[in-house]
Amino acid sequence: MDKQIYGIVGSPVEHSLSPAMQNAAFYHLKINAEYRLFEVSADDLERFLDNIRLEKNISGLNVTIPHKIKAKEYLERKGSLDEHSLVLGAVNTIKVSGDGSLRGFNTDGPGFYRSLVEDLKFEPEGRNIFVLGAGGAAKAIVMYLGAGPKSISVFDVDKKKAGELKSHYGKYFDEGKLNIISDAREIGSALAKNDLFVNATPVGMNESDPSPIPKSLIRPGLAVYDLVYNRAYTQLVKDANAAKAHALTGLGMLLYQGAASFEIWTGELPPVAVMRRALKEALTKRGALR
Ligand code: NAP
Repeated sequence: MDKQIYGIVGSPVEHSLSPAMQNAAFYHLKINAEYRLFEVSADDLERFLDNIRLEKNISGLNVTIPHKIKAKEYLERKGSLDEHSLVLGAVNTIKVSGDGSLRGFNTDGPGFYRSLVEDLKFEPEGRNIFVLGAGGAAKAIVMYLGAGPKSISVFDVDKKKAGELKSHYGKYFDEGKLNIISDAREIGSALAKNDLFVNATPVGMNESDPSPIPKSLIRPGLAVYDLVYNRAYTQLVKDANAAKAHALTGLGMLLYQGAASFEIWTGELPPVAVMRRALKEALTKRGALR
């Protein structure tokens, strides 16, 4: 059988860690496949996806910034979507069938959930959860957690984005289960009532970044999940460790969203230990995991 081609489409994609993790999985399972980078501008996305349907030259894709919403809109017209990506309104995984038909999925929420439960050992069902940020990642997490937690509170410096999250997804939550915190001064009192703090902002991606919240707000026993994955310790995670909270950065989410995509494409159980090792090696090479 010819080599199967997979890849990630976005702009920019050059720094993506997905090739390291996915190619390690293909190699380990002796699947004749290669995962590539596809740098595609927003203007060219439609043509790129049309070409895949006609040429059937690619078997599966990850979709990243800035194309996740546009890809969902494309698949609504010219393909199909699973229920979660349809409701969320964003696609990060596309499966291409033999006849060239395309189907969209979103594995960000499932990836976060699996890492939360397996890596951080935090079961969100019936718990109170605080999410800082209301961008793409926060939306995926909030929608995937759905009705499981007792409550989800969201704060974003961009009040419009937080309002949009509530107006788009509020209908899927019972009254009082999805709360928008509108005043930064209320973060402290809100956090005191929560069991888990999730950083879904980019604060922490640069080595010199401060923590997105004052360390005085972190109490012993609080669970902290920092979505930032490009370094072993962010200031938030350092502060949380010092306060005897349970904290992790987002490498596990990256791993498990990729593992879920792999399973969708190949139907095979993803070799997560191999994929995790490949991710860590790629980050170490970049000097990120010191
Ligand atoms: P995004 O769409 O830009 O959303 C981030 C939101 O946070 C923006 O609305 C931003 O507002 C807001 N914000 C920034 N600083 C804030 C602060 N101090 N307090 C409150 N809100 C603040 O970004 P995203 O795509 O959702 O990604 C968020 C983070 O998650 C990034 O670090 C990304 O790398 C990470 N991520 C990780 C994974 C993983 O697998 N581990 C997957 C997806 C994303 P402004 O735009 O006004 O600044």
